[in-house]
Amino acid sequence: MIIVTKPGVTHAEIDHIVERIHDWGLKTEVSHGAQRVVIGVIGAEDIIREKPLAAIPGVESVTPVLKPYKLVAHEFRGTASHIRIGDVTIGGSEVVIMAGPCSVESRSQIIEIAQIVKDSGATVLRGGAFKPRTSPYSFQGLGVEGLKLLAEARESSGLPIITEIMDTKDLEAVEQYADCLQVGARNMQNFALLKEVGRSRLPVMLKRGMSATIKDLLMSAEYILSEGNFNVILCERGIRTFETMTRNTLDLNAVPVLKAETHLPVVVDPTHGVGVREYVPAMALAAVAAGADGLMLEVHNNPELAKSDGEQALLGHEFAALVKQIRKVAEAIGRNAG
Ligand code: PEP
Ligand code: MN
Repeated sequence: MIIVTKPGVTHAEIDHIVERIHDWGLKTEVSHGAQRVVIGVIGAEDIIREKPLAAIPGVESVTPVLKPYKLVAHEFRGTASHIRIGDVTIGGSEVVIMAGPCSVESRSQIIEIAQIVKDSGATVLRGGAFKPRTSPYSFQGLGVEGLKLLAEARESSGLPIITEIMDTKDLEAVEQYADCLQVGARNMQNFALLKEVGRSRLPVMLKRGMSATIKDLLMSAEYILSEGNFNVILCERGIRTFETMTRNTLDLNAVPVLKAETHLPVVVDPTHGVGVREYVPAMALAAVAAGADGLMLEVHNNPELAKSDGEQALLGHEFAALVKQIRKVAEAIGRNAG
């Protein structure tokens, strides 16, 4: 249920509305828009419906969210969510560039790549320590050792880090080192994991499953918010289609649809979306033009020796050139990048 307050509502009235709702055993999420304050009411719909919300002073309207996703719905906040990864804000005017290798492979590899992406304008470092691989015989990631190396790379580069969490049993370890948790495409509907990261203090980037609809993605995000963690970022990373010339089909339709449907920031990962190095820059620029709040890009200092996804990683100089173009596209649509 969404409460919109009257114009000119006072702080005391807002506090009173919130207190009253809490007294009823319900929770609230208060969002301050330019004109109005929107108060999302959280709890079982049938209980909320019987409370006289409209009678509380300062309340202008009370509207149910009719969509199956409630907390992630745009109207629940009425304004875009700004989410912090370390000291980087995503969801505002800046297009955030997250970059780094697919996997953390060694100390020198991650520290070198962190510096390369930082020097070119990335503001978040990515790198997998726990890797979801199609084959059990492929490199599975360095695990906790990889997390420690990521923390060292954060220290040397100053970039906050995002890394994948694959299993609830690893959450404590990943939380110790990461600034943002990534739930990968293969785990988008791992509901036990979604609930667990929903109780984390860290922001979560949720990637779209390769056969998931946009609605499925929003419903999965709802799991995380419903546990109390509102710091969720959505990521379009390509879906499976009949096309075989690219690894996946990057569904850029998802960007304007998600921006309309939800208050959560939207990131695009063109690297996994196309899976072919040569095509990544064009789709990165298209994603920014479409309104993405951020990009996730794989970059490697020696892709031919990479332990995963070498064929789709950009080289340092390609990434540097791309960031310059990203800045131009961002500027053309009234934003800035990097
Ligand atoms: C990744 O980011 O390295 C990754 C495995 O992505 P996805 O979950 O989108 O396949
Ligand atoms: Mn990868």
